[in-house]
Formats: sequence, C-alpha cells, structure tokens
Amino acid sequence: MTRGGQRTDLVIFTDLDGTLLDHDTYGWGPAVEALERCRERGVPLVLVSSKTRAEMELLRKALGLDWPFVPENGGGIVFPAGCPQAPPAESLPDGGGGHVLHLGVPYDVVARSLREIREELSRPDIRGFSDMGAGEIARLTGLSPEDAGRAAQREYDEPFVMNDPGKTDLDLLERAAQERGLQVTAGGRFLHLFGGCDKGKAVSLLTDWFRSERPAVRTAGLGDSPNDLPMLMRVDEPVLVRSSRPIGDMAEAVPGIRITGKPGPDGWNRAVLDLLTVSVNA
Ligand SMILES: [Mg+2]
Repeated sequence: MTRGGQRTDLVIFTDLDGTLLDHDTYGWGPAVEALERCRERGVPLVLVSSKTRAEMELLRKALGLDWPFVPENGGGIVFPAGCPQAPPAESLPDGGGGHVLHLGVPYDVVARSLREIREELSRPDIRGFSDMGAGEIARLTGLSPEDAGRAAQREYDEPFVMNDPGKTDLDLLERAAQERGLQVTAGGRFLHLFGGCDKGKAVSLLTDWFRSERPAVRTAGLGDSPNDLPMLMRVDEPVLVRSSRPIGDMAEAVPGIRITGKPGPDGWNRAVLDLLTVSVNA
C-alpha cells in the first residue's frame, strides 16, 4: 500500500539505546523527521528495549506513541491505555488502564540465579543491578538519579557487568545460564541474564497481533547490538544501526540486513525515511 509515494503498510520495531537514542546522551533529536513521518502516515512504531517498563512509559509518552512496547529484552509486552488496536484476550489489566503480557521468567528468580552463577564461577566481579544502588547505576549509565531509579525497577531481566569478559568467560556464563533455563545476551552497555522470552519472540507475537487486523502488514526492525539479533531475524526488513561495536558477525547472522551509514539516531532517521519511501514503480 502506498500513498503519495509513501508506504503505509509498514510496522517498525526499534531498539532504543544506540539505535533511536544516542548511546551517550539518550537524545533522539536527529530522528525527528522520520518520527514525524511515521506519525503522519500512521505507521506503528514499537519500542523494543532492555529498558524497564517505567523507563519506557516515559519515553513513549515523550515520543507521542500509543502502540505496544516491549521492555526488558522481551520479558513482557505492554499495551498502553489508548492503544489503537485492542490488546490480545490473554493479556492482563496492568492497573493503569493498559494491559500487559508477561512472557519472561520473574526478576527475583533471575537475580538470584545471577548470584548463584557468581559463586559457581568464582567471579566476584560479576555484579547485577540488584547488587547496585541507584547511584552506581547512574554512574555506569550516565542516567540521572531519577532515571537510574526507573532503570532499577526491573520485572524480568538482570543487567550485569563483569571485568573484561572474553569468549571463554561468555561460554561459561552461557552454560551456567542454560543449566538454569536462562540465557545471556550483550546489549550496548551491559550483559543481560533473562529467560522465557527474547526480543524476537515478542516481535513475532506482535507481528501476529498486527496481522490479525491488517494481514498485509510488513515488518521492519532496527537495532545495534547482539541482543537485537533475534528481533532482526524475525522481521521482513532488518536494519543494523552502526555503532562502535564491530558489525561483521552481526551482519552475517541476518541475511539481507541493511547497515546504516551513521550511528544512533542519525542512522535511524535515514534508514526509516528510506523504509517509508517507495519508488513510483515499486
Ligand atoms: Mg541498543
């Protein structure tokens, strides 16, 4: 479907940090043109992040979005009050007029597992958000103390640090996580321990939900880190947003992936404008 050379059949799933938001400042100024174009065209924009529900609620309101969003690496899907499409029957009221689907292993189980893994691997340098106060989270992330407090309100996913993790460390971590039915992934700043769901599963569920009303919808996804790969593998049009991370392995993992010329919101803006535009003959 097109209107005035612009596609209207698209749903866009996007990571936040390092993708729509600048890695360091968390600003999205360079992306306003494409954001506005999505709004004009009614193209749903779905935020998919390792951030918490509390952090993402603020952001989606600031961005003027009523579409569902996916916090904590796919741990849940939140359908805000005012969402233009009815939430799925199996979702639960969230107490604030919206609905939520819980997909991930609960946070207390995950945080306890990280403490067990730290003992098992004899790595006291493994430290999760549950071991830190808001002050330490603020220092590590560059967030304000208030935003760091929201980042600490976790429901499913435990971000953590360890000193200079090499491939052997990551293999050991992954094995210890798997033994507990959990998995480890790398975001832009932290490693993450979580289970039961990933960004890809949440995106698949939401794709089915969108197609239940609009069967012809095509999906695009944008991300910059390994934790975005499950999402990028499940969309029709994957885009890797450039970052300081080497992109070779990630690009190889997703056939047909486009890579932005610029990092963060500059790259996002160009990529989304391109996604929204179709040539007259297309
Ligand atoms: Mg990111």
